[in-house]
Amino acid sequence: MVHGPTAGSPARAATVPATVTAPAAPKDLPSVDRVLRDAEVTHLMASHGHAFVAAEARRLLDAWRQRALDGALAADELAQLPRVLAERCAERLAPRMRRVINLTGTVLHTNLGRALLADEALRQVLACMGSPNNLEFDLERGERGDRDSLVESLLCEITGAEAATVVNNNAAAVLLGIAALAGGKEAVVSRGELVEIGGAFRMPDVMTAAGATLVEIGTTNRTHLRDYQAAIGPKTALLMKVHTSNYAIQGFTSAVSEAELAPVAKAAGVPLMTDLGSGSLVDLAQWGLPAEPLPQRMLADGCDVVTFSGDKLLGGPQAGLIVGRRDLIQKIRKFPMKRALRLSKLPLAALEATLRLYLQPDRLTQDLPTLRLLTRPLDQIEAQAGRLLARVEAAVAPRFSVRVSAMRGQIGSGSLPVETLPSAGLVLTPRLPGKRGLGRALDELQTALRALPLPVIARVSNDELWLDLRCLDEAREEGEFIAQLAVLREALA
Ligand SMILES: *Cc1c(COP(=O)(O)O)cnc(C)c1O
Repeated sequence: MVHGPTAGSPARAATVPATVTAPAAPKDLPSVDRVLRDAEVTHLMASHGHAFVAAEARRLLDAWRQRALDGALAADELAQLPRVLAERCAERLAPRMRRVINLTGTVLHTNLGRALLADEALRQVLACMGSPNNLEFDLERGERGDRDSLVESLLCEITGAEAATVVNNNAAAVLLGIAALAGGKEAVVSRGELVEIGGAFRMPDVMTAAGATLVEIGTTNRTHLRDYQAAIGPKTALLMKVHTSNYAIQGFTSAVSEAELAPVAKAAGVPLMTDLGSGSLVDLAQWGLPAEPLPQRMLADGCDVVTFSGDKLLGGPQAGLIVGRRDLIQKIRKFPMKRALRLSKLPLAALEATLRLYLQPDRLTQDLPTLRLLTRPLDQIEAQAGRLLARVEAAVAPRFSVRVSAMRGQIGSGSLPVETLPSAGLVLTPRLPGKRGLGRALDELQTALRALPLPVIARVSNDELWLDLRCLDEAREEGEFIAQLAVLREALA
């Protein structure tokens, strides 16, 4: 449905010239009871009930009374009251969380919900969430089960881990892992890996929150194996590696890999935990994408515990996955904080379905939206830009010129910030004699795109508006995008 400005709001009032019709006085407004007896309103109540419609009628009358007091309500508007009330009701009941079209060029956009769920995951959510299910019930034995068991064997099969558990997100996985393994003791981390993921998630603060003492070693750019060796003492409970996913240290650098560190950890009898952040479960290099560390590789290299996100490159729901040595996973699972951080049945259903897709790796680039978008052939995106050019031109002319252009997108969610994805799209440039008014024209265009029935989120760069088409799904979204270009044209007129 279209969410235009509410009729009766100041925007609409301004279109009713007060000079033509007489202003209404507060006493001209009907009572709530009278409004509710109107035929159209009775109809509304049949759908939505008396309480809701009456409350909305009261709010609307209050607003209109104020407008009448201000002399800003025209007498002939009063007849519109039932219609305006119906619009208000529809607007109040419209979902706040809405689909948008992501033309930012960032595939895993945190502000736009990160990974899109696969059809199989959506089906599983739909199939199981409205019914009782075996969330914590062992159907074979007919007794209480463990919700982890729904995904543990899949995760172990895919990553080669001995055991696995899942929590609310990767931040929770890291917090829980540190608390369970190093609470009250020391955890050793390189200064080059004391990352801030965003918001309030900074590794030193997480350590404090988890009750562990952070032992920083090395320097920002260089940390050596001997730094770890020197830091290990009687209070050391954990060696921790953090994948620096959202930034890169370049130049004179040195870091110790998990493979080098694992024997040191083993010799000292201290577990080695790695936070991978994204942690792709398949090697992205096979599609010419920049490689991301794999959890299975980390485990093979000797890591004891690996944590990663469910809704980054894995392509599933928000979740934190913890895989590794059986005794350590058991310790983590038994830790009281686990209950507070556990994954709920809704994402668990989606996660299980997403992980099952990995059993058929040859189908992943078809079945998993994240991989489908990341591996979308450039010529396909270019062809789409060509198809859309004239239509978009017609919608934004004469105020903006449009051209097809090569552009660079991003994987997103902190993955590989340095690497960019070659893409294609449309570039819209305000037709103005000079630089004056450029910012305003672009603001207006962006606002109009966001106000479309299916909001379009674009990116402004170099005084131009960029529509990166990598994420515009051909089967579904392209048609929807085209269908609302007429609305855009009207908004810009
Ligand atoms: C993204 C990320 C996190 C947080 O993961 P969420 O699933 O968003 O909670 C933690 N560590 C690293 C290295 C990350 O990249």
